[in-house]
Amino acid sequence: MSRTIKHIRPRSVLSRMKPYSPGKPIWEVQRELGIEKVTKLASNENPLGPSPLALTAIQSYLTDIHRYPDADTVDLRGAIAEKLQFSSDEVLITNGADELITLISETFLEPGDEIIVPSPTFSEYEFGANLMGARVVQVPLREDYRYDVDDILAAVTEQTKLLYICSPNNPTGTYMKKQDLYRLMDELPSHVLVIFDGAYSHFVTADDYSDGLELVRLGYPIVVTQTFSKIYGLAGIRVGYGIASPSILHSIRQVKEPFNVNALAQVGATAAIKDDQHLEATREMNARGREQLYESLQAMGLNFTRSMSNFLLVELGPDAKNIYEKLMNKGIIIRYGGAWNLPNHARISVGTSEDHTILIEALSEIFIKQT
Ligand SMILES: *Cc1c(COP(=O)(O)O)cnc(C)c1O
Repeated sequence: MSRTIKHIRPRSVLSRMKPYSPGKPIWEVQRELGIEKVTKLASNENPLGPSPLALTAIQSYLTDIHRYPDADTVDLRGAIAEKLQFSSDEVLITNGADELITLISETFLEPGDEIIVPSPTFSEYEFGANLMGARVVQVPLREDYRYDVDDILAAVTEQTKLLYICSPNNPTGTYMKKQDLYRLMDELPSHVLVIFDGAYSHFVTADDYSDGLELVRLGYPIVVTQTFSKIYGLAGIRVGYGIASPSILHSIRQVKEPFNVNALAQVGATAAIKDDQHLEATREMNARGREQLYESLQAMGLNFTRSMSNFLLVELGPDAKNIYEKLMNKGIIIRYGGAWNLPNHARISVGTSEDHTILIEALSEIFIKQT
């Protein structure tokens, strides 16, 4: 037979794609270890669960799921526009913010183009660039994972198409100060589109933070991305969105599948964005939880980075991987830092105070056995 599978060739850029390593799901740990009680602090999910308003809206929509969803996501765009004080044509809804990053890559990147990313940061930016055969230019964060605007400006070339600013940054929890962001926007050459990833914007309590939305209003070339997966507690139904000028969104819409956001996601998110009570409760719980974790980690003599987000980057030392695995065996899932080239670190999501007690007790046990 001459027609065999070995002649079927995927695109050559695929050899550069690295698989995404998600936080282990609860069911997998339950199945592998036979433990019922699993504590997951690995994916920055909302420990309070989904917005109750979203649950009700999804339940009452169930009988209509034989219909295609609204390809224009009119209701959800309207609700987001109203909440954030934009017009509907400045909002684009996607199947999670992850999809938006891929769509932006497909819209703007050609082979040989460059993107600038801070390092370490969220891996999806690199994924999108690799997919399109573009080059990834990493700008390392400075001491204490601080953004440095001059370092970023120095990395810009004629080939730079996209610049990603994740603020607060995943996995460090650090953010770009408002005055730095504004100076960056003013000094960048005009061929660079900034993608401001605000997946964790809602958790910030610092006064000198900007969520980037004002820059869209002022007409800068910027796309602000946000998500329903984190503070809104809807990670499982996959909804994210971008805020940008209509002409930028028009280009992105050209590469989008018509029915990329399913009907239950649309009604759930439309209800969730109006649920101020759930949002406030989550924000307060997170701010308290962060402090509680700081205190406990400090008492154990561990170093960590102060975070404006719903997770902490913790230095566990050269034994970090081992500690991560021991926690896993006790049914506690955190995120090991290896994937970010941080082999001595782990990222721990802020959870409920019960989650924290379980984590700290387990860590203490592990440290006692080691010494
Ligand atoms: C979680 C996350 C997202 C988006 O997640 P989706 O679930 O795809 O909406 C985007 N950026 C960062 C930095 C994140 O951590």
